[in-house]
Amino acid sequence: MAELTTYKNYVAGAWRESAGGTFEVRSPGDGSPVYRAQRSTVDDARAAIAAAREAFESTEWRDDAGARATALSKFSAAAQEHHEELATLLTRESGKPYRISRDEALRLSETTGYFAGLTRWIFGRSQIPQPNSISLILREPIGVVAIIVPWNAPLALLARALAPALAAGNAVVVKPASYTAGSTVELGKILEGIPEVPKGIVNIVTGPGDPVGAELARHADVDMVAFTGDTTTGREIMRLAAGNLKKVSLELGGKSPTIVFADANLERAIRGAINAASFYNAGQVCIAGTRVLVEASVHDAFVEQIKEVVPKMKVGPGWEKGVEVGPVISEAQLQKVTGYIEQGKREAVLVTGGHRLTDGALAKGYFIAPTVFDRMRPDAKIAREEIFGPVMGITTFQDLDEAIHIANDSVYGLVAGVWTRDINKAMRIATRVRAGSVWINTFGKMFQSTEMGGFKQSGLGRQYGLEGLFEYTELKHVNIQLEK
Ligand code: NAD
Repeated sequence: MAELTTYKNYVAGAWRESAGGTFEVRSPGDGSPVYRAQRSTVDDARAAIAAAREAFESTEWRDDAGARATALSKFSAAAQEHHEELATLLTRESGKPYRISRDEALRLSETTGYFAGLTRWIFGRSQIPQPNSISLILREPIGVVAIIVPWNAPLALLARALAPALAAGNAVVVKPASYTAGSTVELGKILEGIPEVPKGIVNIVTGPGDPVGAELARHADVDMVAFTGDTTTGREIMRLAAGNLKKVSLELGGKSPTIVFADANLERAIRGAINAASFYNAGQVCIAGTRVLVEASVHDAFVEQIKEVVPKMKVGPGWEKGVEVGPVISEAQLQKVTGYIEQGKREAVLVTGGHRLTDGALAKGYFIAPTVFDRMRPDAKIAREEIFGPVMGITTFQDLDEAIHIANDSVYGLVAGVWTRDINKAMRIATRVRAGSVWINTFGKMFQSTEMGGFKQSGLGRQYGLEGLFEYTELKHVNIQLEK
């Protein structure tokens, strides 16, 4: 048998082992070992921060927009060239369908390409506020940015922070989630081959959230932490960051509504609710629209269709052809999701699914039958908490006001979807629902050029687009007094 790859940390342009040893990553699809990675310590996190600080202070990276544009273009091209290897690894480590992994690897390339194009477009302003006085408003990099990423879409979520942080001239330390450390460390190999990126500008350390991520969030020499993950962890990041008042960008959890009016194209709405909102990536998606609000008059027709389609979805490891729903990431996630399913059986009416799948080879992985609950009350636990698994809940509403009320009755505010042929209803929902993105007659569309982020406890700050670039900059006012 081929020996297992052991990934090392990438610090100051060199590959380093940690004194903390290594950990093994096994595929959630069949339990087979995939690779080992460094179980880093606080010392490794500190070494990476020091390397980033040194590179930021001592190289011309921060001032050389041309070099940064070239570097990001080369990164984008290399990610495109290697997208199949990256996608294969992503599917092995996370179990997700290859098609989703491939889209994600390509998204990494597109996002770095988009921000490569913006690198020379980071402008400030100038003005004459008084006679003989000229003011320059400069847009500068923040300094050392720590980027902490979850496992559910590791490459896409890393790219939307890494690319703008680098485009703006920062130095970074990246900490991936342990389940998907390998695909992120592979990016270090790509960056190593790009001469325009000075050593130490990008550092990657793997290992546990606490202490590695916590040290990055706490350390006084880190100027910003860009975090994507659970809302509870986000709150802890903010607390740790308060020590030196570092800037935080938080992309957190959600419990998003998909609102279906009686006048919608029902077939498309059902397909959207199933494929885009609830079961994509086995429901392990921050933007999952798993609170499906259906107008009462079409409720029965909607549920009949769901009963037809959902039980036929193909569940299996992502490397098998035709798989629509992969495993959940881990034993712990399996326990968490099945716990919510048992709760749902007490709170609502089970329509389909509702159990772990263990037939044949599925017994080796963490597979859950796509599950749908009907008659989900808005105050039910399964309606209020993020499940992060293949579970949809259906709630009926009588009119527009009730739909808006239920949609907003959540501590989260990440996204929302609405299906209707009436532009008035669609726009009322779009303007009154408190969420960072609203989709009308579609779900889940995100573009590099359009901002996304959370209202309420779904986060702080925006990713993608110009605002997503400016997150990684500081404004400075320089005033010049002219002699008369
Ligand atoms: P998580 O919060 O457990 O972990 C995310 C990252 O934080 C990991 O790298 C982890 O090692 C690290 N971490 C954990 N504890 C830490 C600590 N004390 N200090 C510093 N770092 C720490 O989240 P997860 O389970 O990996 O991901 C799922 C969550 O991410 C869901 O809640 C999901 O909604 C959210 N998410 C949000 C978005 C978004 O754009 N809003 C996108 C994807 C995922």
